[in-house]
Amino acid sequence: MSDIAAVLERELGAGRVIGPGDDRLDDYGRDESPALLVPDDARHPPACAVLCERTDEVAAVLRVCAERGVPVVPRGAGSGMTGGCLPVAGGVVLSTERMQRVVEIAEDDLVAVVEPGVITGRLQEAVEARGLFYPPDPASLDFCSIGGNAATCAGGPRAFKYGVTREYVLGLEVALMGGEVLRVGRRTSKGVTGYDLVAGFVGSEGTFGVITELTVKLLPLPPGVATVLGVFADVPAASAAITALLRRGIRPRVLELADRASIDHVRPRARYRFPDGAGAIVLVEVDGDPDALDAEVERIGQACEGAGALDVLAAQSASERRALWEARRLISKSLRDAHRVKLNEDVCVPRGAITEMLARIARTSADLDLPIAVFGHAGDGNLHVNVLSDDDPADPAVARRLDQAVHRVLADTIDLRGTLSGEHGIGVTKRDVMTLEQSERVLEWQRRWKAMWDPAGLLNPGKVLPRRRGACSE
Ligand SMILES: Cc1cc2nc3c(=O)[nH]c(=O)nc-3n(C[C@H](O)[C@H](O)[C@H](O)COP(=O)(O)OP(=O)(O)OC[C@H]3O[C@@H](n4cnc5c(N)ncnc54)[C@H](O)[C@@H]3O)c2cc1C
Repeated sequence: MSDIAAVLERELGAGRVIGPGDDRLDDYGRDESPALLVPDDARHPPACAVLCERTDEVAAVLRVCAERGVPVVPRGAGSGMTGGCLPVAGGVVLSTERMQRVVEIAEDDLVAVVEPGVITGRLQEAVEARGLFYPPDPASLDFCSIGGNAATCAGGPRAFKYGVTREYVLGLEVALMGGEVLRVGRRTSKGVTGYDLVAGFVGSEGTFGVITELTVKLLPLPPGVATVLGVFADVPAASAAITALLRRGIRPRVLELADRASIDHVRPRARYRFPDGAGAIVLVEVDGDPDALDAEVERIGQACEGAGALDVLAAQSASERRALWEARRLISKSLRDAHRVKLNEDVCVPRGAITEMLARIARTSADLDLPIAVFGHAGDGNLHVNVLSDDDPADPAVARRLDQAVHRVLADTIDLRGTLSGEHGIGVTKRDVMTLEQSERVLEWQRRWKAMWDPAGLLNPGKVLPRRRGACSE
């Protein structure tokens, strides 16, 4: 065992440290980010991984590592798509996967207190069994952790009505590099006492502190949900339907869009027979009083038909709703299965710029002769832009074209006053393109903010902020 692994095993006891020579260690040098987007020198196993079970153990790891100048990388479930939990500068991966307790569900206070390793979907099941609702719903909810969700400020389809993780984190317990443990925030749904430190930790991608406990806001579970699938000839028609239904005062909880390339990939697998000429789908979901839902579904149908829908289907029972969701849920896997390369950018543009963004993406696809499939959360303008290829990415000419396509997508996003990431975060894969969106002064203030919590730069180094010119890592 390396020196640091042996020290941490003495501190935490046997069975808690995965050290060199253990086959499991490689897993802690990987996450779900596309291999092509992670810099070559950023993908390797850590010196060791530590499986913490309590806050005092997290604090001990942060104290020992700070004393020895060893980097520490917090890790939840490793489902991140931007390399946020990769040990790019080596050191120790601190895993919260064993911190799985739902400490409290307080029905009267409408809060839950949870440890960071709780799987998001398990929290949702636990609160729904009591008639309560935790709305944030990343597509990874069956395997990502709530601590990772807070660290990345995860979002999902329901964000259009209910917002993202940030809106639900009321209070945090965090352990800082050096071992100090702080409680920030509150248990009440309102509160403006002092600066909003919770807002700073949420979305800081494990670079400020390690989240060891979360107090999250709950809502009453909506008693009814209805889903409508509208099928259109093209994206402009689908966008017209979205605009029309919003103008009718409907506030869907979900408003999803997929383009022709996405549909063409799911067509062979989905049970739904898409009409000829289907070039875009819109999936709309509303919730609330079951008696009022029929009328809302009717108005959504009218908005779709008014925009020239080729087909409109509606469902209220859970099994029928699942069937309508099937096509949307199959897209990502169908794209991955069909192509050697799939680079997923999760850009976000103002809602009114979606049609123009898709037109620009179509031009990029044609100019560079690369298929690009787009689907995502139309309500928020958050688009998953998938650059696809069957060619060998080791061929420099192919790699160059892929790189050009990604850069054009990012540049168009900024040009349309959008942002580089709607939900996946920056991590290591996007840190060096931050300068497309943010000025050097804004980046400098963020470096100072990071230095306040972690002056030695040992907590999750090499993430979020771009490298300064000439520096290899920071
Ligand atoms: C198929 C698939 C679908 C996805 N869909 C979505 C989606 O719809 N919406 C979405 O937002 N994301 C999505 N993601 C991305 C990913 O699931 C989210 O970013 C998720 O929030 C990461 O959680 P995790 O527990 O896996 O974190 P990890 O991948 O382990 O870590 C992510 C970041 O959080 C930090 N971190 C983790 N735990 C802590 C902690 N306790 N304290 C401090 N920092 C911590 C890490 O250092 C790292 O920077 C998807 C991923 C996949 C593979």
